[in-house]
Amino acid sequence: MDYKKIIASMTLEEKASLCSGRDFWHTKEVKGKKIPEIMVSDGPHGLRKRPESQDHQDHLGTFESVKAVCFPAACATAASFDRALMNKMGKTLGNECQSENVSTILGPAVNIKRSPLCGRNFEYFSEDPLLATEMAGAYIKGVQSKNIAVSIKHFLANNQETRRLTESAEIDERTLREIYLAAFEGAVKNAKPWTVMCSYNRINGLHASENKTYLTDILRDEWGFDGVVMSDWGAVNDRVKGLAAGLDLEMPGSYGVNDREIIAAVEKGSLSMKTLDTAVERILRWVDRYTSKRQKDAKWDREADHELAGKIEEESAVLLKNDGILPLDGNDTIAVIGRFAKSPRYQGGGSSHINSFKITSFMDAAKGKSHDLIYADGYALDREEPDRTLITKAVNAAKKSDVAVIFAGLPDIFESEGYDRTHMRLPENQNVLIEEVLKVQPNVVVVLHNGSPVEMPWADQVKGIFEMYLGGQNVGSATYNLLFGKANPCGRLPESFPVKLQDNPSYLHFPGYRDKVVYAEGVFVGYRYYDTKGMDVLFPFGHGLSYTTYRYSNLKLSKRKIKAEIR
Ligand code: BGC
Repeated sequence: MDYKKIIASMTLEEKASLCSGRDFWHTKEVKGKKIPEIMVSDGPHGLRKRPESQDHQDHLGTFESVKAVCFPAACATAASFDRALMNKMGKTLGNECQSENVSTILGPAVNIKRSPLCGRNFEYFSEDPLLATEMAGAYIKGVQSKNIAVSIKHFLANNQETRRLTESAEIDERTLREIYLAAFEGAVKNAKPWTVMCSYNRINGLHASENKTYLTDILRDEWGFDGVVMSDWGAVNDRVKGLAAGLDLEMPGSYGVNDREIIAAVEKGSLSMKTLDTAVERILRWVDRYTSKRQKDAKWDREADHELAGKIEEESAVLLKNDGILPLDGNDTIAVIGRFAKSPRYQGGGSSHINSFKITSFMDAAKGKSHDLIYADGYALDREEPDRTLITKAVNAAKKSDVAVIFAGLPDIFESEGYDRTHMRLPENQNVLIEEVLKVQPNVVVVLHNGSPVEMPWADQVKGIFEMYLGGQNVGSATYNLLFGKANPCGRLPESFPVKLQDNPSYLHFPGYRDKVVYAEGVFVGYRYYDTKGMDVLFPFGHGLSYTTYRYSNLKLSKRKIKAEIR
C-alpha cells in the first residue's frame, strides 16, 4: 500500500474521520480508497468479540460476546515466569483472532501492582517492571507472529480504578522511569507492539491522552515505537491537543464531534496538516499490516485451546505452603469444601470478561477418578455472613475425612474493573469456615481463587496452601492434577503478599485524595520496600514450592582460590 499516495488523495474530512472509531469495536473504512474497516476486541486473556450482528454500544460486557476460551489472567500467568508459555498463549490468541477476523487484541495490560487493592490487579502481571515487561513482550511476540496486533495498555500510571477517569498520578521522574515506564519499555523496544493504548488518568496534571512527553518524546523518539496510539475507551479530553501530542486514534469515536474539531483546527492553522497526515499514515499502516496478511482460512479449535488453558494454569499456580500434606493421597477420604470447587472463580469482571464456552471445575475434573470425596458448600457466594447450616455440614464432612481441602477466594463482586477493593480480607464466612474446620480436622489444605493478595489469618494452622489466582476456565483440571501430584507445582509469586494491608508501601496514599494520587513511596514498590525495610511478609515475591526435593552432596571447589567477581 502506498500510504503517501493514498493520503495525498484524501480530503481533510476523510483524514479526520479515519482518526476515530466507527463504533465501539471498528475503525472506519475509507470509501473508494480500498481502506477497509478493521475490528478490535478485548483482551487480554481471551477473546471478547462482540458478534458482528449486534449493536456495538457495549464495552463493559453487558451484552454477550462470542463463546470463547478464557485463559488464566495475567495475575496467574506472571507466576509462571515462563516466556515460552506466554508466547504460546499469545500465538494461540493470535490464531483465534485470525479465525474471528479480529485485527487487534486489546492487551496485554502491564500496569504495576502498586497496591494490592487495585480492582484490576488480576489483569496486570506484577509489582516488578522487569517481570511485567518480559511477560508482556513474550505475549506480544506470540500474538503478532500471527499477524495480529496487540494494544499494550494502559499507558501510563493507571494503577487504580478509583477516579481512574480523572485522577492525576503524581510521580517523580526517577520513579516513572524505573517503575511505571519500565513496565512498558522493554516490551515496546523488544517486541514492537503495533499499537499502544493510552490511559484515562492524568500524569502530573496532564491527561495521558494529550501528554506529548510520554506519547511522543519517550514512546516514539526514545523507544522507537512506530505504531498507532489509540485512546482507552473514552479517554480523550481535548482531541486536538491529543493529536498534536501523538494520540492517533480516538476510540470508540465521538459521533463526529471530535473529527470536526480536528477539521476546524487544521483550517484555522492551529493544527498542522502534517501532524494529521502522520496519524493517518500510522493508522493506514496498521490496517494494512493486518489486512495484507489476513488468513481467511484460519480455524480455531476451542477444545484444544481449553486444554492449553489448563496446562498454562498448571505451570502458573503457586504452592505457598506444604507441611508434607501434598500431594494428596488418592486413597484417602477427602472432604472437598467450598463453592469454588464446583463453580470456580476463574476470571475478573469488566472489559476482559470472557464468555467461556465451557468451564471445568475441580469436581468436574475429579469425576470418574475413583476418589472418595465428600463435598460441602461451606459458604454462600452472595453473602459475607457465616451460614451456620453450611458450616455445620462442612465440619461434619471434615470430621468423616482424612483430609479437608477448602476452596476459598474472592467472589466476583470483590474484584473488577471500575472499582478498587477497600480491604484485603477474604469474606468473613470463609475465614470462619476455615477456623471451624480446623477445630475438627488437623489436615487442612486451602486452595485460593483470587486476583490479588488476601490476608490469611489461618496460614500458620493449615498444612497446605495453593494460590491458583484467577486460573481460566480450565482451572479445575490444573487444580486436580496439582493436588494429586499428577503435575509438579512450579509457579512463583509475581508479587509480595504482605501480612496485612497496612504494611503495603502505598497504604497511606491509596487511592489518594480528591483528584490527586501522590506516589509518595517512590521506587519502593512491593518487594523493593519490604526488602529495604527488612520487614516480614506473609509470602515474599518469588516464593513458590514444588514437590521436588533437592539434596546436595559431594560438593567440591573447582579451584583453591576464586576471585570475587562483580558483574
Ligand atoms: C478499559 C480497556 C478496554 C476498553 C475496551 C476500557 O474501559 O480500560 O482496558 O480495552 O475499555 O473495552
